Amino acid sequence: MTNITGSILSQEKLSDSDILVLLSSGMEDRNKMYIKSAAIRDTYVGNKVFLRGLIEFSNICSKNCLYCGIRAGNTNVHRYNLEDEEVLEAAMYAFENHFGSIVLQSGERDDRIFTDRVDSLVKRIKNLSGGKLGITLSMGEQTEETYRRWFESGAHRYLLRIETSNPDLYRRIHPDNAKHNYKERLDSLINIKKIGYQVGTGVMIGLPFQTMEDLVSDLRFMQNFDIDMVGMGPYIEHVDTPLYQYRDTLLPLDERFNLTMKMIALIRILMKDVNIAATTALQAIDPMGREKAIKIGANIMMPNITPAKYRSDYKLYDNKPCIAEGADDCAGCMEARVKLAGAEIGYDAWGDSKHFENRKEI
Ligand code: SAH
Ligand code: SF4
Repeated sequence: MTNITGSILSQEKLSDSDILVLLSSGMEDRNKMYIKSAAIRDTYVGNKVFLRGLIEFSNICSKNCLYCGIRAGNTNVHRYNLEDEEVLEAAMYAFENHFGSIVLQSGERDDRIFTDRVDSLVKRIKNLSGGKLGITLSMGEQTEETYRRWFESGAHRYLLRIETSNPDLYRRIHPDNAKHNYKERLDSLINIKKIGYQVGTGVMIGLPFQTMEDLVSDLRFMQNFDIDMVGMGPYIEHVDTPLYQYRDTLLPLDERFNLTMKMIALIRILMKDVNIAATTALQAIDPMGREKAIKIGANIMMPNITPAKYRSDYKLYDNKPCIAEGADDCAGCMEARVKLAGAEIGYDAWGDSKHFENRKEI
């Protein structure tokens, strides 16, 4: 087994069956893979980790994804919507702490009040920071016109996970209606790319009914779509969701964690110069989860800068960390932890995806 992994890792190109072997590898073999993925990160994107202050600005959502704690159908959620001033203050906090960028994330809404408001917030944040703060949006599926409008107002990166690249699995983890449609999600990603955003996507790992072959297809999906940014995390069950009934069929949490780490290493090996986030869901399983992901090839961290009083209401899954005051994400703590992971923080920089720059040049 060990020799097989060694020879697979020395190949220039990986076949689907090579990827399956690597996804199934035990500790010794996966450590070899991690040495390779970390070296590729250092060569192609450097060892700087860029920060995006995450503002979870509303948990009001019009959708009903079967895995998500803030789905519209969950009546046990206290719904909130940050005041404009609170969003601007959080953005200024990021700016003054030299984070370089923010991510505005929320439940999905497509009404005019919402789309107008996001547009105005993007413009105001740009103005407040003299154009210096980079803005990533993550607000689900929108019309091409809305995506364009937000782009023209100053957002330049968009995160929309495909969640799974298997349309059948997609159907099983979403309600069966037009609002939750694989093809629509894909079309949204196509629009985001066409408009000129840096495109981020990703999947959940360890979903009920998901197979190893699905994960191989997920990696191929990201490669074929030629995405710029990746955000992948373990699926974590939430008690108030329909998928909770399948909790006994899931992989143990530590295995979901390890599988996510392998997926991160593999996408780094396959795509080389993309930005890869060390996601919060990793931290929900292991307090040092994000740092472990950085050690093996991730290069983006998203410290939560949502005002503390709202955090416990943005619970996509159980055990979501940072619900108390974000002491873990204080500037000095992050710096020390990133250093322990063998990298350093790139302050006051957008840290755009090198892959985006490279694909624009072609
Ligand atoms: N509403 C937007 C953005 C907020 S949700 C959207 O859906 O795109 C952001 C991400 O949280 C989703 O893409 C999904 O991958 C993740 N998520 C939701 N529920 C989760 C769960 N139970 N476990 C892990 N990740 C989850
Ligand atoms: Fe809403 Fe996003 Fe959760 Fe789906 S994953 S229910 S769109 S917040």
